[in-house]
Amino acid sequence: MKIFSTRSEIQQYLTRLNGKTIGFVPTMGALHRGHISLIEQAKATNHVVVCSIFVNPTQFNDPKDLQNYPRPIAADISKLEAAGCDILFNPPVSEIYDDNEHWHLNIGQLEFLLEGEFRPGHYQGVTQVVYKLLDIVKPTTLYLGQKDYQQFMVVSRMVEILDIPVKMVMCPIEREVDGLAMSSRNIHLTADDRQHSLILSKTLNWLKTNFDIKNIFQLEQDAMAMLQSEPGVDPEYIEIADGKTLLPANENSISIVALTAARVGKTRLIDNVVIR
Ligand code: AMP
Repeated sequence: MKIFSTRSEIQQYLTRLNGKTIGFVPTMGALHRGHISLIEQAKATNHVVVCSIFVNPTQFNDPKDLQNYPRPIAADISKLEAAGCDILFNPPVSEIYDDNEHWHLNIGQLEFLLEGEFRPGHYQGVTQVVYKLLDIVKPTTLYLGQKDYQQFMVVSRMVEILDIPVKMVMCPIEREVDGLAMSSRNIHLTADDRQHSLILSKTLNWLKTNFDIKNIFQLEQDAMAMLQSEPGVDPEYIEIADGKTLLPANENSISIVALTAARVGKTRLIDNVVIR
């Protein structure tokens, strides 16, 4: 695997690949099976796979979260090599951002719903970094996980607004055998937290199973009560949303997704399930 830490080096290398398709998997590292499933999907349909590892400071609204974010780069490199990734882009912050840089992209309501409400500014940081990475890598296809469902919708909106020539693929959520969605933040869970965290996937599955039995308002009330009754779990939201707009769904919505975020102990987790 080739490893680059500067824009100029990776760009120089990529321009020599003319005509080859590039699958791109942006990550913040601390790689797990979820990330690797994206690499595998990219590998299956592209000549070249590029992964980036960059803990993007502009998308963190909590400085402690940024500071504590795991950065096991040596282990990540081994995992990428084992998965057959061709190129790793692992730049320092100074390679991506100038001092006092400003960014704002109007993506409408999507920015302020759900995650946007609890993490103000998060999606401006996400669009800022993804724009820069797409500009550097110029991939044929961008692979993102369903785990960050709203992020996929936000990036899709940006690609549409800015007319960026890239195809987008949403990859399914990889889970532990007991249902917990894999996440780089799971390492912060204590043994107790780990048990309590299962309520997220259990509640989302309960919503899916009962969707045709109860009305949406009642389902959301019951789901919130389920989360709240679990010790050590402090839910931020659980919503049944339109799969495209992420506005509240109604029974006529064509695609429907249930999304949740909760603090489990000191760790903030998100999860979602597609209902239809
Ligand atoms: P992150 O490193 O958390 O920024 O995630 C990088 C990419 O991996 C994003 O597109 C995520 O949605 C995706 N991802 C994270 N966790 C999972 C998972 N459990 N299953 C599938 N994809 C995931």
